[in-house]
Amino acid sequence: MPLVPMRALLDHAAANDYGIAGLNVNNMEQIQAIMMAAAEIDSPVIVQASRGARKYSNDAYLRHLMLAAVELNPSLPICMHQDHGNSAETCFSAIEQGFTSVMMDGSLSEDGKVPSTYDYNVQVTRKVVGQAHAVGVSVEGEVGALGGIEDGHGAGLSQAEAMAHLTDPDQAEQFVADTGVDALAVAIGTSHGAYKFSHKPTGDVLKMDLIEEIHRRLPNTHLVMHGSSSVPQELQDVINAFGGAIKQTYGVPVEEIQRGIKNGVRKVNVDTDSRLAMTGAIRKVLAESPGKFDPRDYLGPARDALTLLVAQKMRDLGTAGHAGEFAQKTLEDMKAFYQRKGLV
Ligand SMILES: [Zn+2]
Repeated sequence: MPLVPMRALLDHAAANDYGIAGLNVNNMEQIQAIMMAAAEIDSPVIVQASRGARKYSNDAYLRHLMLAAVELNPSLPICMHQDHGNSAETCFSAIEQGFTSVMMDGSLSEDGKVPSTYDYNVQVTRKVVGQAHAVGVSVEGEVGALGGIEDGHGAGLSQAEAMAHLTDPDQAEQFVADTGVDALAVAIGTSHGAYKFSHKPTGDVLKMDLIEEIHRRLPNTHLVMHGSSSVPQELQDVINAFGGAIKQTYGVPVEEIQRGIKNGVRKVNVDTDSRLAMTGAIRKVLAESPGKFDPRDYLGPARDALTLLVAQKMRDLGTAGHAGEFAQKTLEDMKAFYQRKGLV
């Protein structure tokens, strides 16, 4: 089936009580790993590209990687999503490239660094929603600001500072009414990158109760958890055992993500874990076999490590087994849906 709009996938996830990982892609081995895992356990897929990824790999290479994934996996629903669009123009160029979903992150100014005003956020997100929905493309917005920086995007807030930028439930409710977004990213204390928490997070730093409150007020809005890698100890250990220097850190425990899924979270962004898995595998090969110099000798094992990780995520989030039951939805179907609802 052609690339699927994200709203259709998240609606299915909501109706069937599961979540879907938003998995970042920059190169061939990453998309191959994701698709191998999805095919093995019959899982719907959200593949996302940041601005950094589009720049690194070039839109044309990236687009054709996605089209190859579709061609090789005709029975799997796959969404291609712009992660953290910094401006309406970034989102519009993604739509031109064939992305079926975009995130307009108006929680930060166009520089992707300084927290913006609520009014700016509404204005720029509404503009993107209008044009995206007119062609059936889904839109994710964000209220509040996360900690950390990823791919040059982020306010660089420390974990403590991020606690001052948590999503306000009143504002979340207002924002969804003001913009008509399909999905809403919320700030609940998580950070982008590997260094999220200095100890296993408890409720005072990882505000799952905030998710519950927002879901209570917005039961029909799909919630998105960013910065939600679990940063497993074993992945840190492999890197450090083979010459790496990852300082002890803690991510978002799987059971907290599962609690989120019980409370309206339908998309869970995971990138750090993928990076750690690939880097650990590459370090191991190069440390154990210093004579190797064929990129396939280390990129192959990196791909295998990522396949295992992604399959585990798909099981943890309850995504596994749901691809086959998904009734195909096209951009045209979603365009008609928005028109019927008066959302265009
Ligand atoms: Zn993010």
